[in-house]
Amino acid sequence: MDNRRTLYIGAHADDVVINACITINRYSKSAYILTMTDGVPFGIYPKELGGITLDNHDEYVRQRLNEDKSAMQILGLNVGERYTNGEIPDGESYKNPEKIVSIIEALVKREKIGRIMTHSFPGGRHPAHPDHEIVSVCSYIVGKQYGIEVWEYPRFKSDVTGKQADRIFFEEEKIETVRHDFTSEEISLRDKIMRIFITQGFIIEKYNATFEVFGRGERDPGNIPDTTDFYCGADYRPGPQELKKAINDFFITGYRN
Ligand SMILES: [Zn+2]
Repeated sequence: MDNRRTLYIGAHADDVVINACITINRYSKSAYILTMTDGVPFGIYPKELGGITLDNHDEYVRQRLNEDKSAMQILGLNVGERYTNGEIPDGESYKNPEKIVSIIEALVKREKIGRIMTHSFPGGRHPAHPDHEIVSVCSYIVGKQYGIEVWEYPRFKSDVTGKQADRIFFEEEKIETVRHDFTSEEISLRDKIMRIFITQGFIIEKYNATFEVFGRGERDPGNIPDTTDFYCGADYRPGPQELKKAINDFFITGYRN
């Protein structure tokens, strides 16, 4: 990987660390972070998580962002200048594609970003979180408009216990990949970083890794493949048709070529 300014985008305030912790540490001078949502679904309060009590929604939002910012600081990032949160309500990215595109666009212009790292493009046979899918499509819209390379984090494949068993790109997608294998020091560093996310205690177990991989392929954000594999179903999540409709409507009404 070269040193061009890179915007790492995550739908939630742990996605970037899960996917690119060590890569950011190696290239911290050229790294910019954007987490798109507030990361907190509707819930009942007070809530006890990782040994701390959260009294309300806003407190949980602040806690999640603080965890992510603390992690980024240890990875060498100047959080005050390089960390942005889009404040889109968790699970509602599909209602805000225009806003998401303009947030990404503003950062790309202001920081002269030369590369975007984002979630995997919708489609194929493996489900992804709807916030991830919308954020991915919006990243490609901006990438295309500004002629910027867009790379993706791989999809997660879980085993029966829900633990991440593999990270995958689909063969038919003709993806070019770049892979960073960790040194033993980097394995310990990642471990330490994952423990900062005390309200998300499951991630250290679930997303254990000894390397990071990114993929780049031909994508057309104006043409979302038909897939039944959107990750959805719980009551606060949109269904696949709502996601597709949100993107289609956006192209009809909001997309400037
Ligand atoms: Zn996420």
